[in-house]
Amino acid sequence: MSKTALYTHPDCEHHEMERHPERPDRLRAVMQRLDDTGLSDQMLTVTAGEVEDVDIWRVHPGTFIDDLAIREPESGAVKVETDTYMSPGSFRAAKLAAGANTAATRAVLNGEYQQAFCAIRPPGHHAEISQAMGFCLFNNVAIAAETALADERIDRVAILDFDVHHCNGTVDIFKNREEVLVCSSFQENFYPFRYLDYHNEHIVSSPLEAGATGRDFRQAVEQDWIPALLSHKPDFIFISAGFDAHHLDPLGQLMLVEEDFVWVTRLLKDIAADYAGGRLVSTLEGGYDLEALSSCVDAHVSTLLE
Ligand SMILES: [Zn+2]
Repeated sequence: MSKTALYTHPDCEHHEMERHPERPDRLRAVMQRLDDTGLSDQMLTVTAGEVEDVDIWRVHPGTFIDDLAIREPESGAVKVETDTYMSPGSFRAAKLAAGANTAATRAVLNGEYQQAFCAIRPPGHHAEISQAMGFCLFNNVAIAAETALADERIDRVAILDFDVHHCNGTVDIFKNREEVLVCSSFQENFYPFRYLDYHNEHIVSSPLEAGATGRDFRQAVEQDWIPALLSHKPDFIFISAGFDAHHLDPLGQLMLVEEDFVWVTRLLKDIAADYAGGRLVSTLEGGYDLEALSSCVDAHVSTLLE
């Protein structure tokens, strides 16, 4: 049995918004890097299927799904929100991205693998209950978390999000769901300008000033995330793995380097081992400099495979 699986689908590239940073080349660069470094040979690669509606309904209402399906154009691109677009193929890409997450979660629950990485797009963590937003259509990690919680063996889960942007969508979905611990580090006073100050016992926010370094990030994680994780004792760990907090990223102004992502990945893997029987599913969120993105995914996946 391979310990780690890689879930992806080439049709996730068929979601194109002209001159948009969240572009098909992102996924191509990631997959190319995993092939070049031989990491993809160390994992079982699984071609994702489309998510079932019943799995989306735990997070988004049916009317929201229908609305997205109707809005997909036959050619060109249409704006569904300020900076979120759909092209021909976007709806299927979104269903594959969510489907990778649900399939990975079920495979881990069933003991087929201990952990999985979902190399998918569009990303998901800005999608709120009834609102596509910030390049995101369905909230992939939230759908995965609810898939796990639907299993009687799982009582509590944790979602850890180190994307440079705050996970407003994930917070919107789980703000009243105490079984779900959501920890997010993000650049303060920055997009999405929603839920930035929101926190409660199971919603943990770690804002970082523009220019913050890996040292600041690690300090925030140690101070905010670790006590919350130790108290929550999650049965399943989910990672919203955005790499736009890297210093080369064109969208954010944080100064993280590959070693910081290695550090946090190792930490979360250890928490998964201690509390969750090793169960961990990580899914791609942001990251817009192709070289930095592929290098960070390489570092993240290598650490999962250690
Ligand atoms: Zn981001």
